[in-house]
Formats: sequence, C-alpha cells, structure tokens
Amino acid sequence: MLIVVCIKEVPDAAYINIDPATGTLIREGVPSIINPFDNHALEESLRLKEKHGFRVAAISMGPTSAGETLRNALAMGVDEVVLLSDPVFSGSDTLATTKVLAEAIKRLAEKEEVAIVICGKQTIDGATAQVGPGIATRLKYSQLTLVDQIQNVDDQAGKVRVRRMLEGRYEIVEATLPALITVVPQINTPREPTVRMQMMAEDAEVTLWDNEVMKLPKESIGVKGSPTRVRKIFSQIMPESEILGDGIYDPEGAAHLLIDTLTEEDILSL
Ligand SMILES: Cc1cc2nc3c(=O)[nH]c(=O)nc-3n(C[C@H](O)[C@H](O)[C@H](O)COP(=O)(O)OP(=O)(O)OC[C@H]3O[C@@H](n4cnc5c(N)ncnc54)[C@H](O)[C@@H]3O)c2cc1C
Repeated sequence: MLIVVCIKEVPDAAYINIDPATGTLIREGVPSIINPFDNHALEESLRLKEKHGFRVAAISMGPTSAGETLRNALAMGVDEVVLLSDPVFSGSDTLATTKVLAEAIKRLAEKEEVAIVICGKQTIDGATAQVGPGIATRLKYSQLTLVDQIQNVDDQAGKVRVRRMLEGRYEIVEATLPALITVVPQINTPREPTVRMQMMAEDAEVTLWDNEVMKLPKESIGVKGSPTRVRKIFSQIMPESEILGDGIYDPEGAAHLLIDTLTEEDILSL
C-alpha cells in the first residue's frame, strides 16, 4: 500500500520583505525551502513506512526548482517522487491546486492502492489550510485534520485512528481508509538525512508530470481555473496591549516594557 505525502516549496520567511508600494511579497532573490509543516508530514510518512512496510511517494506542484525539495525527500527515505510542473499550472489558487494534486494521487492509485495521503496543516506563504481538505473532498477520502498522533493504522480492516489537536481539547477519531490527514508540528520531530542518503539522492530520478501527462482541461487549472481574486493585501496592526507597545518593531523597548510590567506586578524581582 502507498502513503502519499504532499510537499510544497515556499519562500524562506526569514528573507521575505513586503513591497511598501504594492503591499505584495517580494519573492525575487528569496531562497526556497520545504514548507516547515510539510517536514512533519514527511517524517510521519516515513514512520508509517518503517512501522507498516508501506511505500511512500512524495508529490509537489511547483516550479522546476521544487525538484530539489523532492530530492531532499528522497534523501530522507521516500521511495518515489513526482514533480507536477507545467506553465499551465502556474497562478493556480487553492481550488486549481487541489485539482492537480488530486489528479496526481488518482494516477498513483491506479498503480498501487493508496492508504493515506498526508499534508501539512498549512503553508507559511498562502497559509489557507484549504488544500488538504480540498484533496480529500475531490477524492472522497476520509478527512482528518489537525492530527497530532496517528495512533493506529489497520490496513486489513481498512481503518485509521488518530488524535486531533483542537483548541483546549483532543479528539480521538476513527475513520475508514483511504484517508487524508493534515498534521500539526507537535506530531513529531523530523529527522535529518544522513550524508550517505543525501549522496544517493543526488543521482536519483525525479519523475516529472506535466500537463501532457496529466491531461487536465486547461480552463480548469492555472490562472484560468482560479476564481480567487486578491483585492488587497495589508499589514494587520495589532492593538498595543497585545504586542507590548511597539514590540514587533522595537524588541529592546518591548523587553524593557515586559520587565517593568512583570516587576510592577510582583512577578519578577530584580
Ligand atoms: C492571498 C493569496 C494570493 C496568492 N497569489 C498567488 C499568485 O498570484 N500566484 C500563484 O501562483 N499563487 C498564488 N497564491 C498561492 C496559491 O494559491 C497557493 O500556494 C496554493 O494554492 C496552495 O495554497 P496554500 O499555500 O494556502 O496551501 P495550504 O492549504 O495552506 O497547504 C496545506 C498543505 O497542502 C499541501 N500543499 C499545498 N500546496 C501544495 C503544492 N503546491 N504542492 C504539494 N502540496 C501542497 C502541503 O502539504 C501543505 O502543507 C496565493 C495565495 C494566497 C493566499
């Protein structure tokens, strides 16, 4: 049985700036990294492989540079990687993205039965958390979001039991396979690839599926298939009490304010 893990390449948040004139992200010259939430999805897929003997395939829709992120996934121990890349996919919103990813999973499922698809809870750039649920809906898979423990997978009985981390409580849910799971970072600590595995992955093949292969109607993907329109992007100004004065922009001043406040409240004595 196959586990499919969905990985997105994102701009490294540490290097991102906002264009003050347009209010949009400046992406030029910004290095790309694997979406941090997807590291946890990847780790969990490898743990399922080790525990149950499943095979793991990683897929990513993005520019050709995302092939490097997939190569790193191979270095971690994934068995197969597929890059979904074509100029007609670019500009896809979450609706169009889920169409491409769901179609890729369907194609993988034709070769090998899919037990579980794992996604991160959200990305650090788009951050909509819509893609996982969107794939589950399209494929009619069970949908288990915000999972912090995969407690049991019984592929004979076709069941999975997970713990979901909700606000102030946990929820234990059992669902039928195939299932789509989105994971929170608390689920695990991702491993580092060994040097040997990294060297082996350097020569490994990244399969490319463009739209010649996927054959999705062009009007349903990319900009044409994306009804989302971004009207305005702006910075959220937090109320002063929540950010300790001007804390985001003046960390030193905020630290002094915090010390003063804690001292006044008799919580801290200097
Ligand atoms: C306001 C806004 C404006 C945008 N403008 C543009 C634009 O102009 N041009 C453009 O190209 N895009 C744009 N995007 C990005 C695009 O809509 C999203 O990147 C994409 O649809 C995924 O959505 P997300 O990042 O919110 O993923 P989420 O739903 O937060 O991701 C959840 C999980 O789904 C999986 N996943 C998500 N995306 C992928 C992927 N590509 N491949 C594999 N797995 C994935 C990962 O496991 C991830 O952790 C914009 C997004 C937003 C929110």
